[in-house]
Amino acid sequence: MSVLKITEVSKLFGATRAVDSFSLTVEDGELVCLLGPSGSGKSTLLRMVGGFAQPTAGSISIDGEEIIHLPPEKRPTGMVFQSHALWTHMNVFKNLAFGLKLRKLPKDEIDRKVEEVLELVGLSGYGGRLTHQLSGGQQQRVALARSLVLEPKILLLDEPFASLDQHLRERLREEVRDIQQRLKITTLFVTHGQDEALALADRIVVMRDGKTEQVGRPDIVYREPATPFVAGFIGTMN
Ligand code: ADP
Ligand code: MG
Repeated sequence: MSVLKITEVSKLFGATRAVDSFSLTVEDGELVCLLGPSGSGKSTLLRMVGGFAQPTAGSISIDGEEIIHLPPEKRPTGMVFQSHALWTHMNVFKNLAFGLKLRKLPKDEIDRKVEEVLELVGLSGYGGRLTHQLSGGQQQRVALARSLVLEPKILLLDEPFASLDQHLRERLREEVRDIQQRLKITTLFVTHGQDEALALADRIVVMRDGKTEQVGRPDIVYREPATPFVAGFIGTMN
């Protein structure tokens, strides 16, 4: 069953076509990687799904309902940015509880949900820590937890581990895959790293100049690149 349907979405910044009549359908529980070089429109596309940018044209629907008129907080999406954008003046618990308080959940339920999700990301017992006392990897775990605690229908991850070193990035990648499969949460994962996309994705969308260059299973994209561009890009493992 398809959950997310992006239909001929474009985004212009002046004369720049950041996203150019892009279409994609994502199935329930699928992890799709948007892979492409810097400037290919990945972030702009993700931001439009999350409600942080408005399409110039096109339609985005979730479970058959058009969402482009909805602000981010009314969308069934949760977004994790490359720079974690945590609230540094709040401890980990408060970062996670904030959105639940806005939803007016009772305190014991908030406590339970926060503890559950901290456990899920491997940060049990970290609720009282201030976020600036945490390592970069731990901060990204908190950012992921802050999205997950609101139980989004679709998780949007924009190069969430790009600022971390290779070893940590690979570890967090495995953890995200594990969490994604346990929760069966539909996920769009943006990356410019071929290795990351090949390791994570159920399907890869290779982007170039705001358009789709190829869509397919990682093994197919790897073995049978549809264009010289895909072959060149996938071939240069980082
Ligand atoms: P990616 O995430 O793949 O690196 P982006 O979506 O960030 O690509 O950018 C796609 C194109 O849109 C680039 O040419 C970029 O310079 C341009 N762009 C992105 N955001 C803005 C903005 N707010 N204002 C003007 N141009 C932008
Ligand atoms: Mg980007």
